Amino acid sequence: MSADPGNVSGDNVDQAELEKFQALAKRWWDPNSEFKPLHDINPLRMGYISERCRLTDATVLDVGCGGGILTEALAMAGARVTGIDLADKPLSVARLHLHESGLGERIDYRQISTEALAEEAPASYDVITCLEMLEHVPDPASTIHALSLLVKPGGHLFLSTINRNPKSWLLMVVGAEYVLNMLPRGTHDYAKFIRPSELSGMLRNNALSVTNITGMTYNPISQRYRLGNDIDVNYLVHAQAP
Ligand code: SAH
Repeated sequence: MSADPGNVSGDNVDQAELEKFQALAKRWWDPNSEFKPLHDINPLRMGYISERCRLTDATVLDVGCGGGILTEALAMAGARVTGIDLADKPLSVARLHLHESGLGERIDYRQISTEALAEEAPASYDVITCLEMLEHVPDPASTIHALSLLVKPGGHLFLSTINRNPKSWLLMVVGAEYVLNMLPRGTHDYAKFIRPSELSGMLRNNALSVTNITGMTYNPISQRYRLGNDIDVNYLVHAQAP
């Protein structure tokens, strides 16, 4: 049993990481809260996903769904979505928000690990999204392996995380947490950042082919995000199953 009965324990989870999201969960849907960056990037990442796969009537899995910002957008685009997370408070917020959005028929939220779901429902999803989560997980290679089992043949995987280099440390840890106060201090652990080459290697090891890597940059003057070639800090990956 974990110290906090709200969290499901498992091998590939860091309880201290879950606690960060538990503590803030109530403010998940406040667009001016600590979750403002997720609200701001949501249209960009939805554009990236919907340009590369068909979401209408697709069976989608959203891994590390939190309060459901991406999950709801996927459902609004016509998908049937299962959202999974290991922290119970963000999931409660996500379920409550379905009363406001009216998307309850299209979304199922579950507190289960990626690895456990892979045993329960292999080759079940046309599209899998796992955004802004891998940098909080102790063993991202295990998560990627589970995702490779969950995706249907020919299915799509969308991942996003943070590159590991001096620039990403300066912008994501010092800049975002200490200078601009965009994120609570301690949100990100530099050692857990993942280089695109490392993530591509994990995907290739599971027979998944990387079809695109796109950077996401933030301009602190205009306070806008954009997609482009600069993958030094935040980046999105599209991969496909054979
Ligand atoms: N994917 C969402 C939320 C990102 S915040 C979005 O981009 O909008 C990161 C989420 O990952 C949190 O909800 C946290 O509880 C979850 N998380 C962290 N470690 C996890 C793990 N090992 N398994 C499942 N979820 C995890």
